[in-house]
Amino acid sequence: MPMAACDLHMHSTYSDGTLTPRQLVERAKELELQAIALTDHDTFDGVEQAKQAGAELGVKVLSGVEISVEYASKTVHMLAYCFDSGADRLRQGLEKLVAGRTERNLKIVQKLNELGLPVSYEEILAVAGGKVVGRPHIANVLLKHGYVASWDEAFGKYLARGAAAYVERLRFSPVDSVAMICQAGGLAVLAHPKFVALKPGETLEDVVRALVDAGLKGIECYYSFHTPEETAAYLELARRYNLLVTGGTDFHGANKPDIEMGRGLGELHIPLSCAQGLEAAAGGACL
Ligand code: AMP
Ligand code: FE
Ligand code: FE
Ligand code: ZN
Repeated sequence: MPMAACDLHMHSTYSDGTLTPRQLVERAKELELQAIALTDHDTFDGVEQAKQAGAELGVKVLSGVEISVEYASKTVHMLAYCFDSGADRLRQGLEKLVAGRTERNLKIVQKLNELGLPVSYEEILAVAGGKVVGRPHIANVLLKHGYVASWDEAFGKYLARGAAAYVERLRFSPVDSVAMICQAGGLAVLAHPKFVALKPGETLEDVVRALVDAGLKGIECYYSFHTPEETAAYLELARRYNLLVTGGTDFHGANKPDIEMGRGLGELHIPLSCAQGLEAAAGGACL
């Protein structure tokens, strides 16, 4: 009997993953995970479907969403868990982000066209299939046309920050995002701290301290790309600031083919206590 495990960070077809919420739950069942959280970018519309499948298949499903926020001219990702799915303020905030994506994506299409790459906004929407349309979908369209040979080339030449067709989109500040999550009754968790871009002279602890003051409740210590040493350092940080410990793989299905649910690049194990900790902190009211 494998040790009880969970995966609290994954994406479905509602954002840039390639499995539906139901398929994610089926995969979790196959992999003998006891709990998962669906954390699509900028939407929790898939959570209800995942919860239904979870109830049928005996996999605990926690509500979640991942938000990319502006920090030090770069981005930091915040996860929100266990909010009330009727949380209107959070939904309104997310809708603003989705509108910001539409505005940004139209400008990216224009830039690509100016660069001599005929792509239409409609075909990007068709590839995305849902309302949260992101650069991964645009990368897939560029691939489909043969304009690039890989995602790396798509991002490196065109879509990454600073590349030829890059356009900024609306993002909230970390403090505003944490406040929005708290007001929705949710638990704000700092995603993959390894990828937090620090200002000169600043430490991760400085960032964590500021976010804790704003209402941060947890830190994603276990993650596909964290080394054992990094995980140990994040666990220590969580202990010092009395933060919940969470973990997830960032599973995206075929859009990140090296990452398996619950296992990351292979050896990751995320203890079920991470999911239980979130539920307990939410007072059992994890909708
Ligand atoms: P968006 O939210 O539409 O701005 O797109 C962000 C997503 O694009 C991230 O969640 C990543 O999955 C992906 N992404 C961003 N930068 C890169 C990169 N340099 N290489 C590959 N994927 C990237
Ligand atoms: Fe993504
Ligand atoms: Fe992320
Ligand atoms: Zn993610």
